[in-house]
Amino acid sequence: MWTARRRRAASFRSSTTSSSRGLLRFASLGSGSKGNCLVAEAGASRLLLDCGLGPRDTVRRLARLGLAPADLTGIIVTHEHDDHVGGAFGFAAKHCLPVWITHGTWRAAAEAGKGDSTGTVTVNIVDGRTAFEVGELLVQPYTVPHDAREPVQYVVSDGVSRLGVLTDIGAPTPHVQAVLSGCDALVLECNHDLGMLAASEYPNWLKERISGPFGHLDNGQSHDLLASLDRSRLKHVIGAHLSQQNNRADLARRALAEALGCEDSWIGIATQEDGFDWRELR
Ligand SMILES: [Zn+2]
Ligand SMILES: [Zn+2]
Repeated sequence: MWTARRRRAASFRSSTTSSSRGLLRFASLGSGSKGNCLVAEAGASRLLLDCGLGPRDTVRRLARLGLAPADLTGIIVTHEHDDHVGGAFGFAAKHCLPVWITHGTWRAAAEAGKGDSTGTVTVNIVDGRTAFEVGELLVQPYTVPHDAREPVQYVVSDGVSRLGVLTDIGAPTPHVQAVLSGCDALVLECNHDLGMLAASEYPNWLKERISGPFGHLDNGQSHDLLASLDRSRLKHVIGAHLSQQNNRADLARRALAEALGCEDSWIGIATQEDGFDWRELR
């Protein structure tokens, strides 16, 4: 099966994309509280980072990017919240994809009925501080404070360029700053605007959870984190996991652009419906 998948991927690549060695590409199928899924590609290796969308929706959105499930190598999961793991095991079982996941997330997902109900998925346990390779992709997990059992986020690399992805974190830590410094591209959570959240009709307990130390980053925290990083190699910055009720794309753009001293229009935004289109790093 592996051989067949690689062959299909190779023929796909030669016929329809510009992918080649030394090129890291990434795109999003969608980002937000209704489902997150990002794809990273180096050579013939393609990983989904989280799969919080339904199986059919995932296939449909992959097609928008010129991909089919057979082009994928596996799925790496950040944590057990439904918008990240909800579709992962069903999709993995259906399309014979291995999953990389921390032990705590794997257990918590199974206890919540979101694990591998078929018993057929190859599960690789991730240590939150140990990098691993999946084909031509190098994957560096890193630990984050979030209200989940054993959450991690990931930096993905082709050995030349590094893509740092960070969503679902209550507050940046020195560890997060160290890991994300020097990345070539960042997909960075801008979950909410503090004022919009405070004025929203959300119950107080939910407002406190979202803005608390194990919740989500607001635009100001994302600005401060980005400003604190080594940004010397940055070629792409994309705001992600925006709340549809408590944030606006223009506010997230402004916050990240201020940290970089760039035009707002240079900042990308990952939307719930469309994610964002392919971005390339050479
Ligand atoms: Zn989330
Ligand atoms: Zn979460």
